[in-house]
Parts: sequence; structure tokens; C-alpha cells
Amino acid sequence: MVIVLNHGIHEKDKQKIRNFLEKKGFTIREIIGEEETILGAVGIVSIDVREVELLPGVSRVIPITKPYKLASREFKKEDTIIPVGPVRIGGQRIVVIAGPCAVESREQILETAQKVKNSGAVILRGGAYKPRTSPYSFQGLEEKGLQYLKEAGVATGMPVISEIVSTELVDMMKEYVDIMQVGTRNMQNYELLKRLGPIGKPILLKRGYAATIQELLMAAEYLLAHGAENVLFCERGIRTFETYTRNTLDISAIPIIKKLSHLPIIVDPSHATGIREKVSPMALAAIAAGADGVIVEVHPDPDNALSDGPQSLYPEQFEKLMRDIEALAPVLGKEISRLPDKSISISYRQKNKKLFHKGRLKVSFQGERGAFSEKAIYSYFDEEVDLVPCAEFRDVFNSVLKAASDIGVIPLENSLSGSIHQNFDLLLQFPDIQIIGEKKIRIIHNLITLPGAQLTDIKRVYSHPQGLAQCSHYLENFPAWEKIAYYDTAGSVAFIAKNGNKENAAIASEEAARVYNMDILKESIETNARNYTRFVVIARGDAAQVDKPEKASFVFSTLDKPGALFHVLQVLTENSINMKKLESRPIPGKPWEYMFYVDVDVPEENSRFKECVEKLKKETEEFRVLGMYRI
Ligand code: PEP
Ligand code: MN
Repeated sequence: MVIVLNHGIHEKDKQKIRNFLEKKGFTIREIIGEEETILGAVGIVSIDVREVELLPGVSRVIPITKPYKLASREFKKEDTIIPVGPVRIGGQRIVVIAGPCAVESREQILETAQKVKNSGAVILRGGAYKPRTSPYSFQGLEEKGLQYLKEAGVATGMPVISEIVSTELVDMMKEYVDIMQVGTRNMQNYELLKRLGPIGKPILLKRGYAATIQELLMAAEYLLAHGAENVLFCERGIRTFETYTRNTLDISAIPIIKKLSHLPIIVDPSHATGIREKVSPMALAAIAAGADGVIVEVHPDPDNALSDGPQSLYPEQFEKLMRDIEALAPVLGKEISRLPDKSISISYRQKNKKLFHKGRLKVSFQGERGAFSEKAIYSYFDEEVDLVPCAEFRDVFNSVLKAASDIGVIPLENSLSGSIHQNFDLLLQFPDIQIIGEKKIRIIHNLITLPGAQLTDIKRVYSHPQGLAQCSHYLENFPAWEKIAYYDTAGSVAFIAKNGNKENAAIASEEAARVYNMDILKESIETNARNYTRFVVIARGDAAQVDKPEKASFVFSTLDKPGALFHVLQVLTENSINMKKLESRPIPGKPWEYMFYVDVDVPEENSRFKECVEKLKKETEEFRVLGMYRI
């Protein structure tokens, strides 16, 4: 059962609840969430839940109906995010794990590691103990193989994963690997699962080739019940009557597991198909179906591989797959996970040690938990950050300026409804704030109601004006609904949740519905599915030095004379600076006078852009660079 505790419960009361349950024979797991703290109580004891409900500090008690408890969504509604070195698995990230089936030599693993890393893999795989069907096949390099694997991981900055086949190997292997892999043949090796539970390493649990989804979840329950917290599922194909492929990839297991469990699921299209040319299409299908990542076999010379050559990708094929995944990710509202040296935030942090000496970044945004800005933050930052929600956009600027947060994230424009002028104006009003990065994310709006409400119950719809504007076609079908502008999309969900009236609906993200325990009555009601919002990341000017900027934004007003704008544009042309956007805005307080906002590509030798800026200053009345940043 799940026991949701009151906000601000005293430690003493919490301890009393724990003692009460432990005495009854339950094992307790505490989860401190952003919204609420819960105790999960598991055990074979039966108890009248009212006895627990009456204890001081208990808000409500929810029985878990499934045979798997700790693995279930009932136990934890938010997705579990698993940290593995610098990589986080789950949530909005797509992780790509790649490497050979088996470590064959030091050179082979070092070469493969470098190649898959260059293409964008973030975790390195390589088997050292190979459970082969034939005892005469290559069995793996054993501990030597793990040494080489670790060396390759360290050389490339990638965490490593390898399969464990026996309980005796646990202590030795945990010194070498970052993720323990339990193979398909061992999914129900309960002694191995019990031994792995307490070791504190993430575990990738592969689905048995003849196991049901429920059996897979129960195997994960073994790991969790024995102390593991970070378990990843891996769908790797099951045995069916089909013989064309090595196994049959059960794509439907992905959305099923995502619904039943909070744990991430990775898909292995290599062992699922056994055929090289089927690996990439199935990897893409798995990601489209909601997988949190893929684990793919790649070999520098598959034709001479010691195991699973026919299903191993050539490095060039893997590179193409990575590019396809990159193109697919934004359609799904997801982000490809990258190693920190590729991430803007980390390089920015390194350049600004003075600012970021104190550990986790504090990032401010406008809105409540579940806001689209929060999603943009999670997409932009590879590392974990502390969120600083603000009521108004201006508060985000002030928070950054006064160092209450290190960084702010604000929306600047939407592909359907255009610029968010207030933020352009604020960029002008806060000359000490600079843009240091940008993130475009897909916006999917949903019609959100109280649980159990029907379309016919709705009389009012609350959302941010942008949310209402972006769903105008859908809303035209319901002329009787009152459309009420609210300060924030997620805030409107918080409002209808608190208000408790079934006549109220809200338009916001899926995350917001989840955060406030509301129902989604209709998904994806935005007028156009190609609905993207461009967010920018802002910081104080003294800290805004970005390494290798790719894009710049500036603002200017012209002299009131013929050809003034033409001359500005001419400077850009003569310096071969590519303009991405030009927009005019009235100057606040000066009727009928205009400023121009411009985005340009910054050439690789960015001194050329700096020279251009000097020339532009001469051709304009007022001129300010809002930021030079990476995209
Ligand atoms: C492997 O990943 O190397 C492997 C042997 O996979 P599976 O257990 O899925 O067959
Ligand atoms: Mn293999």
C-alpha cells in the first residue's frame, strides 16, 4: 500500500507510522517527491487500511492491487530517472547504449568505443561472460574483458554495461561496470536477482525470451524488494512461431510497461531481430513507441566478429541510426541524451566556475510545476537542477539578476502564435541579462478535467492565453464554453484541481495533468501538430561567456532617414552573416517608433561577427547584442 503523508509532517509522526507498519511485518520504502512524500509498505500481511489512515500525519492510503508493488505506477506515479555517471536514463531522454556483443580484444573495444561515442552513444556495452547456446562458441574474455571494457569507458567518458551470469561474479564485476546486465536466460534466476538487489548498482533486466510482461515485472520486484532502486527493463524479443527473425520484438510491451511501471524501458533490437538490416527500423519503432532508449550491437568488423556478427551494425550504419533518432526525438517531445562534454550547460559551467561553484544549478521559470518551461529546462540541462518557479516573467529576470537563481528559462516565440513580446521587452529592460542558449520543444496541449468529468460537464476552460490561442480550432467546436485566460497553463490545472468543480477544464501539458492528478479528456488538441516553442536560457551578463557560439540575437533602432534599415542589412550581407529572423516591435513609450530584433548565425571565426557588430553600431541609433549562444 502507498501511504501519502501530510505536507510538513513531523519526523516524530513519520517514525511512528514507520514503527507501526514495521511491527505489522511490512517493509517500508520512503519516496520524497516534488509534490508529496509517500511511504510504500510492502509485505504479505493483510491489514485494515483504516488503521493506517487514522495515524497522525497520514493524508491518504492507497492499496496497491498489482502483485508487483515497488515496480508499479501505483507505488510511484512519476517516471524513475536513473543516474549512471553523467547520464540520466528515463524521463524525456533517449539514451543510446552501443558496443560489440562481446569484448574481443583491447584494440577492438577501444576502437568501437571511440566510434560509437563519436556518433553519439552515451553508454558502452560489451559482454565479457557470454552465455552461448553452444559450449564450443567463444565464451568471452571474462575478467580481462571487463578490464578492457572499463579502460575503453574511461578513455571515452562513457559508463559501461556488461552481463553478469552468476552470483559468484558479483563482487568482482561491480568494480568494473556501471550497470549490471541480467540476460534473458537469467531473468528468473532469483538467487542472482536477490544477490544483485543490495549492491547499489543500476541493473538492466532483460525480458526472458519466454517470459510474460507480468513475469518480467515480478522479476524486477525481486530486485527492488532486495534493495535495488535503479532497475531498467529491457525488451529484447520473445520466442514465437516466427522463424524469419531470431526473436519477435514485442513492441507493444513498451507502452504496456510504461503504463504499469515507473521504471524506464530500453529496447534491444539487435537480439530481437538477429538481422543487421532490421536493427535500425526496429530501434526507431521502439523509440516511437515510447522506449527510453536502445541498446545496439556495433562492431568495427562484423564479418569477423566472434559473436553475433550478423546482427551487429557497421559503425557507419550506427551513425546513420543516430541521425535518424535525432530527427525523431523532437517529434516525440524528447531529447537525445548526450555526454556532458557535448552539453552546453556543462561547458558553460566550466567557463563560469565562479558562478557555479556551489553544486546544482538553480533554474528559474515562469509558472507552476508541470509548465512547458519546466519541460524545456529538463530538455536543455543534462544535469539535475533545482527549480525556482516564478509567478511572472519579470520575476524570472529579477531572480537571475539578483542571483536568486543562476539561470532562467523563458519562452520567446511559438511556431503557431508568434512572438511572446513581453519577453522581448524584458530582454530590453534588463541590459545586464544575456541569452546564453536556446531550446525548441514540441508543445502538445491536452484538455484536462477532474477525474470522471465528461465533455458535457464542461462550461469553462482555463489556460494561458497562448494555450487558448494554440487550440483555437478545437475550441471553436464548443462555442458555449467560456474561455478564461489564466497566468499559466500548469497553474490553470492546479486551479481546477483545487476548485474541484467538474464544469472547469484546463488546457496544459500531460505532465501538468499528472502532477495534479487530473484526467486527460482529449489529447493533443493544438491546432497544428507542428507546434513548437522556442525557449531561451538567460544568465547575468557577467557570466554569459559561451564557448563557440553558433547563434546571436541583437536589437537595434535605426535613424529616421531613407535606407536606414537597408544599410544595416547591407552590413550583414557584406560580412556574409546569415540572418535567421527579423522582427519589428514598437518601442515602449515612443509611439510609432520601432526596434528591430534580429537572429543571425555566428560564423565559426566569431571575430567576424564581432567586427560586424562594430560596423552595425555605426549604422544604428541604438544597438545591443542580447546574447551569443549555442543551439
Ligand atoms: C547480450 O546482450 O549480449 C545478450 C546475450 O542478450 P540476451 O540476454 O538478450 O540474449
Ligand atoms: Mn549479442
